[in-house]
Amino acid sequence: MKIAIITGITGQDGAYLSKLLLEKGYKVIGLLRDKNSINFDKLNYLNITKRISFDNCDLTSMGEVINVINKYNPKEIYNLAAQSSVGMSFSNPIETLNFNILSTANILEAIRLIDKSIKFYQASSSEMFGSYNALPFTEKSIFHPVSPYGISKASAHWITVNYRESFGLFTTSGILFNHESVLRDNSFIIKKIIRTAFDILNNKKEVLEVGNIDIKRDFGYAPKYVEAMYLMMQYDKPDDYIISSGISLSIREIIYYIFDKLNIDKNKIIINKEFFRPNEIEDIYGDSSKTKEVLNWNYEVSFFEVLDILIEEEKKLYE
Ligand code: NAP
Repeated sequence: MKIAIITGITGQDGAYLSKLLLEKGYKVIGLLRDKNSINFDKLNYLNITKRISFDNCDLTSMGEVINVINKYNPKEIYNLAAQSSVGMSFSNPIETLNFNILSTANILEAIRLIDKSIKFYQASSSEMFGSYNALPFTEKSIFHPVSPYGISKASAHWITVNYRESFGLFTTSGILFNHESVLRDNSFIIKKIIRTAFDILNNKKEVLEVGNIDIKRDFGYAPKYVEAMYLMMQYDKPDDYIISSGISLSIREIIYYIFDKLNIDKNKIIINKEFFRPNEIEDIYGDSSKTKEVLNWNYEVSFFEVLDILIEEEKKLYE
């Protein structure tokens, strides 16, 4: 049985990736920052918690990372753990940079020291491209990140590439554009809009307060995006891949779609300048042709179809 270690297993992607790997017959080991204070809601939602083995590991400690890899002898490590909020990275830049970069470097160095045949996946992000504006972004586009989060992800990405090029490790980097699901934390914009829409319908909130809704993003569906992570780890050559839908939508279009579908008055949308970020990417979308051609990943779903799914799932959570 193949053993895979997943960091960030309690997050959205960790939950969907665990489900996929379990379906493929893997033994899944989930690394937690602290077994006693962990929220298993997402894994419970997918009904897979009992099928996973968990262990504690402080990924910023080289010693702990070495111990855990020696203990489980995995064939694959998926590094999904990160302080993943762009907004929070502006209020906690040092913590974001420190954790997101050091955790990646520690795992790669441990693999180099212990067993160079262990395959490694890094959760990279479209936020690495930042203000560079030659759209669509491809694997060859230049990075100019505009947030501490983007900078941390760009650094971790280049560490990943460097261990491939310098030490011959099997390291892959999935450059994922925003992807959503019912398992997103409430603070992320799409989940926040849908959740608040139901709160308004149920008289728990009066309005939806948002920041700059004219920015455009390339949104996709998380359960489909984790398939690409798995595929790039099975391909015979390690590489970097863009995972995107190829189309950007403004937050305004998305809010209007959801409010129209749920018959909510658009006067209930309040723009609050306090939610604007110090530095913001206006528009961003990716070209995932390489991923589709090389890995046979297919992604045909429009984001409005994804919104329909998310609204239905949220409705069930509300009942
Ligand atoms: P998420 O739901 O926010 O999950 C983040 C995970 O990282 C959680 O399991 C969290 O554990 C863990 N984590 C955070 N800080 C940690 C720390 N200091 N020590 C140990 N664990 C820590 O993120 P996601 O949406 O699943 O994304 C997965 C990865 O893909 C992240 O690296 C993210 O940056 C990247 N990414 C996401 C997107 C997207 O649109 N979702 C796009 C591009 C890249 P706790 O449960 O203990 O908090």
